Amino acid sequence: MTAMSASKFTPVSTPPFGPGVLGPITRDAGQALWDPDKQAMDPTRRRELQDERVRDLITKVLEHPVRLFADKLAAAGVKDPREIKGVDDLWRIPLTVKQDLRDSEASDPPWGGYRFTPPREAVRLGTSTGTTGQPTITVWTRKDLWIEYESGTRNWWRMGYRPGMIVTHAHPAYLYGGGVMLQGTYEYMGMLSLWVPPPDTDELAEQAVRFWTRVTPDIPFMGFATGRFLEVAGKLDIPLEDAGLVGLKAPLGFGLGRGGMPLMTAGAECYAYVGGPCGQSPGAHIHEDWAVVQAVDPTTGKEVPDGEWGNLTVTTLDRDNGLLRYDLEEACALLREPCECGETSIRGLWGGRFKDLLACQGTRFQLSELEAVLRGITELREPSLEYQVERPDGGDAPLVVKVEVATEDPVARDAAGSRCVADLREALGITVVVEILPRDTIPRAGYKATRVIDPE
Ligand SMILES: [Zn+2]
Repeated sequence: MTAMSASKFTPVSTPPFGPGVLGPITRDAGQALWDPDKQAMDPTRRRELQDERVRDLITKVLEHPVRLFADKLAAAGVKDPREIKGVDDLWRIPLTVKQDLRDSEASDPPWGGYRFTPPREAVRLGTSTGTTGQPTITVWTRKDLWIEYESGTRNWWRMGYRPGMIVTHAHPAYLYGGGVMLQGTYEYMGMLSLWVPPPDTDELAEQAVRFWTRVTPDIPFMGFATGRFLEVAGKLDIPLEDAGLVGLKAPLGFGLGRGGMPLMTAGAECYAYVGGPCGQSPGAHIHEDWAVVQAVDPTTGKEVPDGEWGNLTVTTLDRDNGLLRYDLEEACALLREPCECGETSIRGLWGGRFKDLLACQGTRFQLSELEAVLRGITELREPSLEYQVERPDGGDAPLVVKVEVATEDPVARDAAGSRCVADLREALGITVVVEILPRDTIPRAGYKATRVIDPE
């Protein structure tokens, strides 16, 4: 079980299921897996199911036709669905990347040529964040949502969440689809979810923290915004225990990776809850009955050896609106050794987005690696880590790191700066110049903060 207040929670089974009830069938709170029939399925049988679902997808692409993917099949010389017998033949089909979706929408606005159903058969729409160009549009039918809800529920159940718990989150809403997806999944699973606004301002953060002193969540997990809430609670002198903010840490299983995080999402536009960690082995168990997840060498289209980094490539299965050979342009590694938890799926590690890789002084690293080093320094971590890095040009110049320090004691500030230089040299082998800033200098964000900035 993850951090949760010892107090009020007694596990309950899922609420009764039947006519007039919105939610899944009842199951016992004591069972280890949410859906053992699928999660502990015989791997040979699961591969047959995948092959069958791949064939269904290819048939739909060609018969519909779904133009973007039909063109990819044509490029591979595939005219008859029977030419793709299953997972083993997928490598023949060219990859599709985000820019393909963007181009498709631009040439045939607004939906583009990659929908499997008329958009009006869907019930929900979301857009991507648009950090790298015009946001693309995703639509979900009720079946597509059900697959995500079931998948998300497998993840939270594995991590010890149970119906009857009070959870909270601060995901963005409206056109961004991630917040309503998480809220919907929590409700579907039978938990009481307190959805507070993203803490874009101190006032919004305060509203949430004060509410949690009235109704205190059992699981105080706010994702990217956690540091903001801790900071504002500190400013207001609200004891962290009163708001249920004690014992906050990353969910179970994080940090077990071989240099990577568990692969938990393939993005809202592809597969929001593609897998989750069990805490017993590195990586995240992948929901293979609903996706073929591959670590691909984009030059050959074939999978890299197990345990090595390749392009995270997902083919969704059994959905109304799917994606075929979607390359997220992120690093992924797959592990296939059996896991003792009883789940029989492959496990995935996530190594970050390729476009977020920083290169300087002959080294390439993820921002998260640098952040982990900064987080190891107490003076920088408390009350919350606030930093920015000037985007390096790949040359030999020192990397410029700006970081806030709470103390005003000049000796302690210098010491924190020196430690930062030494620790980054040791961990990443790079030379940095550290600028120590007073608190509240770097702009705060309610969701994902801007950490890499252009040089001044
Ligand atoms: Zn496991």
